[in-house]
Amino acid sequence: TELPAGLPSAAVVDLDAIAANVRVLREHAPKAQVMAVVKADAYGHGLLPAARAALAGGATWLGTAQLSEALALRAAGISAPALAWLTVPGDAYAEAIARHVDIGVSAGWALTEIAAAARDLGMPARVHLKADTGLNRNGCPPEDWPQLVEDALKLQAEGLISVVGGFSHLVSGDTPQAPVNRQQIDAFVAAVDLATAAGVRFEVRHLANSPATLTLPDTHFDLVRPGLAVYGLSPVPDRASAADLGLRPAMTVLGRVVNVKKVAAGQGVSYGHTYTTSTDTELAVVPLGYGDGVPRHASSAGPVQLAGRRFRVAGRVCMDQVVVDLADGGIGRVTAGDVAVLFGGAPGEPTAQDWADAAGTISYEIVTRLGGRVPRLYT
Ligand code: PLP
Repeated sequence: TELPAGLPSAAVVDLDAIAANVRVLREHAPKAQVMAVVKADAYGHGLLPAARAALAGGATWLGTAQLSEALALRAAGISAPALAWLTVPGDAYAEAIARHVDIGVSAGWALTEIAAAARDLGMPARVHLKADTGLNRNGCPPEDWPQLVEDALKLQAEGLISVVGGFSHLVSGDTPQAPVNRQQIDAFVAAVDLATAAGVRFEVRHLANSPATLTLPDTHFDLVRPGLAVYGLSPVPDRASAADLGLRPAMTVLGRVVNVKKVAAGQGVSYGHTYTTSTDTELAVVPLGYGDGVPRHASSAGPVQLAGRRFRVAGRVCMDQVVVDLADGGIGRVTAGDVAVLFGGAPGEPTAQDWADAAGTISYEIVTRLGGRVPRLYT
């Protein structure tokens, strides 16, 4: 993977990997449609290119959190079915309805606002009713579900909405053996059954995120909603690596060495001198820092590949740069202009999961918070 001349850093996104990952997910859920989740700028990969690549791989739906994200798909001419599930009072409901964006509904206030927008437009809204089956986050709790269903059916009879979907979200999809998975599947079936008995005809019932798509077939229903796995990262890193799952990490983050210098043993490195060289060595400076989303919690821990070898960040991650100690086999092998790999997908390269482990977080956060200063390039 190349870093074009003159660029300090870039995230190179392999769109074929995204398409291939969707194909892998389809094989795991052969009876379900795939909704590729492209929220948060496609987990940092770039909304539009990632969405197009996922569709090329056989995704038939796109999922976002905010309405504005789904509307950005429409503005770019992407017409695939799209669902946004995290809307707020006063949101752009009229525009969503006009642009055929499906709306996730967790509460009565949203139905009221959506129906008002649909009435003004003279066009029905497409909604997916979201049941809270245990996450206790967004979603309609069981005690309010019968009323939400009744209200939705009334508005549907008035021609203001069309109930397209019923869905929920898992607590511990990444822990297949967790008893809460079965409890949530049962609660979801109960919610769907109640709605169906009341007269709702769901086109799509959906519950599975990435880990559930890969490991819990009972959660597949009509459609699966993977995000992380679309980008080639393992949603179950304690059990299986991306490679074990047949997934290819789509993003490679590169930085160009700006400086290599000799320092003696016993020298402190970077702010606070939290790291001390243990031998006479060389230090390489790479222009990626927490201003680019590199986690400061990975100070003296995050891996960096240079000259085909893996090193660690020496001392604190700074706003714009990290320092790498080349003592372990890199002395004399790195010069200014060389390209460092923070994480990628090729064999031997550090991974986003390695950075997550170094920072005490999850790979979701590593890719999603990659900063706007790092240009996204596509291959
Ligand atoms: N469905 C919903 C409702 C979500 O909020 C998310 C993301 O958190 C996903 C699906 C995709 O999850 P994952 O990236 O674990 O596949």
